[in-house]
Amino acid sequence: MTTEAPDVVVVGARAAGAATAMLLAKAGLSVLVLDQDREGADTLSTHALLRGGVLQLHRWGLLSEVVAAGTPPIRETTFRYSDAELAIPIKPADGVDALYAPRRTVLDPILVGAARRAGAEVRFGPRLVGLARRGDAVTGVVVRDRKLGNRLVAARLVIGADGRRSTLARLVNAPVTHRARHTSSFVYGYFGDLPTSGYEWAYRPEGTAGFIPTNGGLTCVFAGHHPAVVGRGGPEVLRSVVSAASPGMGERLRAGRLASPVRAFTGQPGRLHRPWGPGWALVGDAGSWKDPISAHGLTDALRDAELLARAVTADLAEDGRNPWAYQSYERIRNHLSVPILRGSDEIAAMSWDDARIRELLVELNVAMNAELATIRTFTQPEFAVGSAV
Ligand SMILES: Cc1cc2nc3c(=O)[nH]c(=O)nc-3n(C[C@H](O)[C@H](O)[C@H](O)COP(=O)(O)OP(=O)(O)OC[C@H]3O[C@@H](n4cnc5c(N)ncnc54)[C@H](O)[C@@H]3O)c2cc1C
Repeated sequence: MTTEAPDVVVVGARAAGAATAMLLAKAGLSVLVLDQDREGADTLSTHALLRGGVLQLHRWGLLSEVVAAGTPPIRETTFRYSDAELAIPIKPADGVDALYAPRRTVLDPILVGAARRAGAEVRFGPRLVGLARRGDAVTGVVVRDRKLGNRLVAARLVIGADGRRSTLARLVNAPVTHRARHTSSFVYGYFGDLPTSGYEWAYRPEGTAGFIPTNGGLTCVFAGHHPAVVGRGGPEVLRSVVSAASPGMGERLRAGRLASPVRAFTGQPGRLHRPWGPGWALVGDAGSWKDPISAHGLTDALRDAELLARAVTADLAEDGRNPWAYQSYERIRNHLSVPILRGSDEIAAMSWDDARIRELLVELNVAMNAELATIRTFTQPEFAVGSAV
């Protein structure tokens, strides 16, 4: 039985889902967000935000909350290769003078709070298990709630922000348009007594590693390599791959104090789905998953939330008769994400030398500059979310 019918149901209440819901609710749509997880729960991620992601939080007035939560500012990024080290200061631009890497237990609740303040209803616990359809078009979701059982919620649009194993993408059989071939595995944990100069990345054919300063005076330390090297992870694998990637970082890590369990991610090759169809759309990892070595998933999610919200408001303002809005969303997303998918795929292959890894990082930097140029257009009135409503 249908008990409610918001304009939009968003499945997933983290970076992509909560941000999209916030923007749609601000544009005047009724939005229901459903997430199967517990409110405030952590998730697998080393959560480093790049400039585009920080800029989005700043534009939305949420960066001050990230800072108030004690997230340390990152004012320099150091790149280490086999034969050299390069420290690059974060230049102030667009009102942003530092990068941040808030824990997901900090970032996601800030976005959920913003979605609620904008008028979206956010519920934790219900799981998407099926869809209602009229012909080809999705007209609602079937959700399973431990207390209430299965319920149907009708909606003009269903958005899957349900992560890299998206149930919505599977249920609508969203075509895969771009595929990566390689995958790296990661192992990471949080360390005290490990001062850093900012983000510190290391790249050698023997391994990749990163130091990421975060909340609570801790540093998130990750190491990446082929799945066969990382195996099931653990503290010793973390220490040995960090040392292989950068002997100096390995030495500093041994002086640090492990302050958390060490988590492992076994890897999943990148892929882009076509992110829309009749009555449905995908945002964040659900439609665009890249190897985590890109450290770009969150930044993309916050960027694409705005691209999708713009398409949704343009389409619903014309009663669902504006597929061009979604075509534009897909085109811009692909323009920005395909170079990141390709670059991170080649890095994940771990078969580069010093010269090639430098080129790959320059290519990723070019992709990030294109992303920033796009985000800057969001401030122009004709591109604002809801300008077509
Ligand atoms: C090891 C690792 C390290 C990473 N490091 C970085 C990094 O340093 N920087 C960076 O930018 N990115 C990083 N990423 C990627 C980043 O974590 C993702 O891009 C980001 O989480 C995407 O956000 P999202 O909102 O799209 O999806 P998610 O964060 O995955 O959220 C999806 C939500 O959907 C919910 N959900 C799923 N299925 C259902 C269902 N059927 N019904 C209801 N709810 C459902 C889940 O409970 C979840 O809360 C990393 C990823 C991994 C695995």
